[in-house]
Amino acid sequence: MNNYVRRQVAPKDMQPCSICHTPSTTVLYNDALKDVLYTCPIHLQDNPSFVTPVHSEEYAATLATLQRLQQQLKAEASKGSGSWDTWVNRVFAKKGEEDKKEEKTEKKEDESTPATLQEQYSQTLDRLTALQQQTRRYKLSDTMFQHRQQARRQQELAVARRQREEANYSNTAPEDLERNFSFPSVPSGDPK
Ligand SMILES: [Zn+2]
Repeated sequence: MNNYVRRQVAPKDMQPCSICHTPSTTVLYNDALKDVLYTCPIHLQDNPSFVTPVHSEEYAATLATLQRLQQQLKAEASKGSGSWDTWVNRVFAKKGEEDKKEEKTEKKEDESTPATLQEQYSQTLDRLTALQQQTRRYKLSDTMFQHRQQARRQQELAVARRQREEANYSNTAPEDLERNFSFPSVPSGDPK
């Protein structure tokens, strides 16, 4: 339910950001709730009181890899030099299956100059950053989500009320309307 997808709208459709009121083309959309929330992209970053990104499984896996590489780097640094190749190969074995095509073309280079742990770390970090930028899903903070649900309910009530009023209006016979309401008098269209 608390599941928002980030979208971009055309510049002509920009609307005030719901936080700072600066016109924005970035919008969070909740399909289940039919909620539309305009926001500056900057508020989506490191702002858990507003929103938390929901990353892909690949992101989580890449983050775990990065953390392991970081630990390994620290361990190597404290040990001096060591044999990290087998360790790195093991960690990247799964990932390697996806990148097989790329690896084939780079194989010769790989064999002559195997990537260092630092290089692996930097590649993983790049991948993580790319995945982070691809993230489109967000979860609002509990407070924020409750607020949006409430606002949405009130909006629905207002629409329902207006529809009821319109229905009443159109169900009313014209003579009843004339009896019950006083219309502003229309100025005469034929000047003398
Ligand atoms: Zn803003």
